[in-house]
Amino acid sequence: MKFVLATANPDKAAEIRAILAPSGHLELLARPQEVPEVEENGDSLLANARLKAKALMKSTGMPAIADDTGLEVEALGGAPGVRSSRFAGEVATYAENVAKLLAELDALPDRGGQRAARFVTAAVVAFPDGTERSAIGSVSGTIAFQARGEHGFGYDPVFVPDEAGGRTFAELPAEAKHAISHRGRAMRALARLVRPEAGADPSPGTTPDGSLDRDT
Ligand code: IMP
Repeated sequence: MKFVLATANPDKAAEIRAILAPSGHLELLARPQEVPEVEENGDSLLANARLKAKALMKSTGMPAIADDTGLEVEALGGAPGVRSSRFAGEVATYAENVAKLLAELDALPDRGGQRAARFVTAAVVAFPDGTERSAIGSVSGTIAFQARGEHGFGYDPVFVPDEAGGRTFAELPAEAKHAISHRGRAMRALARLVRPEAGADPSPGTTPDGSLDRDT
């Protein structure tokens, strides 16, 4: 089955392709360049992922896959959260966002000794018949005191997942990140929901009240 990828972020698109390649039944098409940016003004990751998936589905007439991801830092009350891409300003670079995050934690009374955090990804596929499937993936960890590693993107150099022996995501090879990451978990759960055989169920994954398939 063919799906258009709603993300305009090449780092995210590359990860989604790598994660979904083993699923075999999903052919991913790049987001057409002429489709305008979708304003991410939802109040949750799921709302933003839905906005993006629906917008791409409407403009292409094809099933569309979107993800929205946030880094939630406990000592910052869950920030940057839905504002992860704009944490240091509307057009902030990855490095500026990381610098702001480390500065905010350093400024805490205990110099950010409590650095628990998690990444959460909401993944949505919107179909032209108006139906949707959704999945959530998350990974728990801590924020490092300094950036380390060359792989990945975004906050990867400062995120130390609990399951990686103290290495940051940016110190892990891509496959090792995808095996435990928020995006890996969300996208694999979504892929299971759109398997051809899953189509027999009228609404697998998303119940009428909007609760979700969750893989954490
Ligand atoms: P988006 O809203 O889903 O595009 O992602 C928000 C921001 O979160 C991105 O601009 C990145 O800075 C960050 N981000 C998203 N996914 C990851 C990831 O897998 N690793 C590190 N940072 C990420």
